[in-house]
Amino acid sequence: MTNKQLESIRSTLMKKKEDLLNSSRNAFRQMMENDQKPSDEGDYAVEEVNQYLSCTIQTRDRRCLLDIERAFKRMDEGDYGCCESCGEPISYERLKIQPFCSLCVDCMQDIELEQKRLA
Ligand SMILES: [Zn+2]
Repeated sequence: MTNKQLESIRSTLMKKKEDLLNSSRNAFRQMMENDQKPSDEGDYAVEEVNQYLSCTIQTRDRRCLLDIERAFKRMDEGDYGCCESCGEPISYERLKIQPFCSLCVDCMQDIELEQKRLA
């Protein structure tokens, strides 16, 4: 994978991360607006807001955010784009569609077969 391809995936991930954070912020704002409690207690403490925010982020989105962070970390370490199981490079075409995938097609199929066998 070239640096240019890597940068393109990185910016896709950045955008995705922004979107996820924005949508959870919006969900939070909406919840606050719908909240009919009198607001004479003053402003919510920042910590409380953050706690609330992290609760409102959907589990799926949270996992997605973690995957994004993990991908960034792997990019920094230079491991990004290599299969975690066999170490072979994962094709750019595959990463473009699934930027979080950390396994090559072969290893992914092995795991899926294994899961089917155990199911
Ligand atoms: Zn592999």
